[in-house]
Amino acid sequence: MAEDVLGQNPRVLSAGRTTPDEYADMWRAINERGRWDGEIWDRRKDGSCYPKWLTISTLHDAQGRLTHYIGSFTDISERKAVEQNIHHLAHHDMLTGLPNRFSLQHRLRQVLASANRDRQQVAVLFIDLDHFKRINDTLGHSIGDALLIDVAARLKGCVRDSDIVARLGGDEFVIVMTNVADGRAQDISSMARKIVHRLSCTYGIDGHELQVTPSVGISVFPVDGEDAETLMRNADTAMYHAKSLGRHNYQFFARSMNEAAAERLQLESAMRRGIERGEFLLHFQPQIEIASGRVVCLEALVRWQHPEWGLLLPDRFIPLAEEYGPIEALGRWVLEDVCRRLRELERLGYGYLRIAVNVCGRQLRRSDFADGLGRLLDTYQIGPGRLEVEVAESVTAELSDAMIVLFQELRSLGVTLSIDDFGTGYSSLGRLKLLPIQKIKLDRSFVADIETDNNDATICAASVALAHSLGLAVVAEGVETEPQFAYLRALDTDLMQGYYFCEPLPIDQLMAFLASHSPTAAS
Ligand code: C2E
Ligand code: MG
Ligand code: MG
Repeated sequence: MAEDVLGQNPRVLSAGRTTPDEYADMWRAINERGRWDGEIWDRRKDGSCYPKWLTISTLHDAQGRLTHYIGSFTDISERKAVEQNIHHLAHHDMLTGLPNRFSLQHRLRQVLASANRDRQQVAVLFIDLDHFKRINDTLGHSIGDALLIDVAARLKGCVRDSDIVARLGGDEFVIVMTNVADGRAQDISSMARKIVHRLSCTYGIDGHELQVTPSVGISVFPVDGEDAETLMRNADTAMYHAKSLGRHNYQFFARSMNEAAAERLQLESAMRRGIERGEFLLHFQPQIEIASGRVVCLEALVRWQHPEWGLLLPDRFIPLAEEYGPIEALGRWVLEDVCRRLRELERLGYGYLRIAVNVCGRQLRRSDFADGLGRLLDTYQIGPGRLEVEVAESVTAELSDAMIVLFQELRSLGVTLSIDDFGTGYSSLGRLKLLPIQKIKLDRSFVADIETDNNDATICAASVALAHSLGLAVVAEGVETEPQFAYLRALDTDLMQGYYFCEPLPIDQLMAFLASHSPTAAS
C-alpha cells in the first residue's frame, strides 16, 4: 500500500544484506555520474527478502540543484532462481543430484593442486555397474533410474565429507578420496572393498528385488598420474581390467594394463576387418544319438583364420567380441552361413541333419534377433526343427519376461532351443522350464571327471533324471574316452559329442566323416 511507504526513508525496504562499502560505492556513482544501477536485496512487507535490479537517477531543477532521487526497480528473484538452477544443472547430474563430469574435473584439479602442496595422495575410484544395461532393458528405464539413485545414495554413505562422489553418466560413478596419507594404500583398498560390498547388497525397488555388482578401477596421485585427465584415464583402464577378471571386484592401475588395453583394441579392430574380409569360418562337430548310433546334429563352432596369427579358437576372441560389439556382425554371419549349409546338406541327401548354433547374450538382447532369424529361415527355406540355438546357462540366469517372450518367438519359428554348459550356472531345472527349451547340454567339466569325482557323477545322474522327467533331451559334451561314454550311456544320456567320436572339423572333412558313418544317408 502506498501509505505504508509514503514519506519514509527508503532504508525501511533494506534487507540488511548490502554492506556499507557497497552503499558507499552506490552513492559515489550517483553523485559523480547522476546514475547507478545494480542488484540489491530488499525486504517485502511480509519480511521476506528478494533480489531486485534497482536504477537510481537524480533530478535537478532549472538552476541545476539536486531536488530528487528517482529509484525504479524490477523484482529479479525469478530470474535469479532460473540462473541458479542453470548453474546447478550445468554442474550436477539431474538424476542423482551428484556433481557431473564437468564439475568433477574442476574439483579434481583443485584437490590435486592442494594435495601437491601438502604432499598428500589422492585416489580416483572409477565405478561401473556390471550388466546394468540388462536391468534397463528388461525392467525398464524407470526402475533403472531408481536403482542409480539408490547407488548414488549408497556411495555417498561410503565416503567422508571431504571426498567427492560424482556421476559421469549411465552407470559410471567416480569417487575421489582426498588427503590419503602417504603409504596408506590399505585405506584405499578398504574403501574399494566397502563400495563393492555395499553396492552388491540387494536393492528393493518397486516390488523387485534387484542385485547388481560393481567393477572398480583405482588410480592414485601422484604415482599413476599427475593431472586429472591421466588419473581418470588410468582408473578407467583399471576398471576394464576388473571387468576382464570376471567383474565384481576392484583393481589398482598398473602400467602393464595400458599395454593390455592397446592389445585388446588392436584385436577388436582386427576382428571387424576380419569379418569384412571373410576370415572367419565354421567347423562342425557331430552329435551322436546313442540309441541309433547315428549323427543327428552338428554343432557349428566358429574359428578365425587370421592371415598372420593363424587359426584362432573362439576363447581368444568371442569374450572380447561380446564385450565390444563385433559379436553382432559375427553372429549374423554365423547364422547365415549355417542356413546356407543346412540348405546344402539337404541337397546332398542329409536333410535329417540339424545344426546347432551358439548364441550369446548380447545377440539375444537385440530386439530384432527373432525377426532377423525368421527372415533367414525363410530365405533359405529351412524347415522347422533343423536349426538349434544353444544359449549358455549363465545367459538365462536373469530369466526375464523379455527372454521368455523371445524364446517363445524362436520356438514358433521352429527353432530347437538348448541350454549350453548346463550345471555351471547353478540354475534349477524347474526354473529353466519356464523357458520353452527342448535340450540341455551337460557341461564338459562334469563329464571330464565323471568316473573319478563323485560330485560330478551325482550332478550328471541327477541332471539326466530330472531333465527326462521334464521331457528334455540330454546331450553330454566333451566325451573323450570309452569309460566316459559307457558311464553316460548307462545314465541314459540321449546324445553325446566329443573327441571320442569326432573333433570339430572343417566342412569337407566333416562330409567325409558323415559319408563313412552313415552309409545309408547319401548315395
Ligand atoms: P561350447 O558351445 O560349449 O562348445 C564346445 C567346445 O568344446 C568347443 O570348443 C569344442 O571344440 C570343445 N570340445 C568338443 N569336444 C570336446 C572334447 O571331447 N574335449 C574337450 N576338452 N573339448 C571339446 P571351441 O570350439 O573352442 O568353442 C568354445 C566356445 O566358444 C563354445 O563353447 C561356445 O561357447 C563359443 N562359440 C563357438 N562358436 C561360437 C559362435 O559362433 N558364436 C558364439 N556366440 N559363441 C561361439
Ligand atoms: Mg555350444
Ligand atoms: Mg558347451
